[in-house]
Amino acid sequence: MNKHNGPKFQTATTLKHEILAGTYHSFIFETKNPLIYKPGQYISVRVTEDRINAYSIAGNDEPNKFMVLVDISPGGPGSKFFEALKVGEKISYLGPFGVFTLKENDNAKELIFLGTGSGCSPLRCILDAALKEKNIQKPLTLYFGLRNPGDIFWQDYFKKLSQEHPNFKFKLTLSRPDESWQGPTGHITDLVNSDFSNMNGYSAYLCGNKEMIDEANNILALKGVAKEKIYFEKF
Ligand SMILES: Cc1cc2nc3c(=O)[nH]c(=O)nc-3n(C[C@H](O)[C@H](O)[C@H](O)COP(=O)(O)OP(=O)(O)OC[C@H]3O[C@@H](n4cnc5c(N)ncnc54)[C@H](O)[C@@H]3O)c2cc1C
Repeated sequence: MNKHNGPKFQTATTLKHEILAGTYHSFIFETKNPLIYKPGQYISVRVTEDRINAYSIAGNDEPNKFMVLVDISPGGPGSKFFEALKVGEKISYLGPFGVFTLKENDNAKELIFLGTGSGCSPLRCILDAALKEKNIQKPLTLYFGLRNPGDIFWQDYFKKLSQEHPNFKFKLTLSRPDESWQGPTGHITDLVNSDFSNMNGYSAYLCGNKEMIDEANNILALKGVAKEKIYFEKF
């Protein structure tokens, strides 16, 4: 691409870089002008001279700030870029982009959210807005899948959200637990399969790896969720 005619990148300054757990890093960025986005959207970050990666917006507390959650376990250029990113350094990005957003007028009677690993990031953003800003009163349930106890992040955040909003339920499951873990185990798709019989009238929001999304699509369809009401973003 010709550098001079290419898209116009925005810049944001790194205000915070925190390792939440294992390979999960959380970042707060500050922009000159507010980043206007729909919860669930992502930005495209320049991670090397010739590589741009997508990262979902996890939320923001102030108009000129936004949060991103990065799993550095893939180990490629994006992972390396974010692992090394220091407070005060700038990122260049395009966007926001994407249509993985809350469909408020799809007549769903209940909403279910399935996220694995960093796939929980856009779901947090969508749920936060749905509960705190849009004041949605329908039942919302989040199934959050991680591997082992050392991976756990945002558990307290979602617990608090469920205490503050009785229509929101949250289940964290680990696929590789150890004896310290008292909660549900296995894949989130197995849990959904055993927790629900008829899901007619539900909408589903899925985000994470391809395997989970493919499996969830199959299970949800068998449970009666209409195909057009299964929304997903593959990472
Ligand atoms: C719309 C969208 C939004 C995204 N949002 C986020 C986000 O908020 N946070 C985040 O951490 N990532 C997110 N991703 C994934 C991200 O864009 C990168 O693909 C990921 O960070 C890996 O980049 P990399 O350069 O480190 O590795 P790559 O060079 O792309 O890949 C290195 C190796 O890891 C494998 N791999 C790639 N991605 C993954 C993965 N997600 N899990 C396991 N293995 C993988 C590849 O097949 C390859 O073998 C998003 C992707 C999309 C499409």
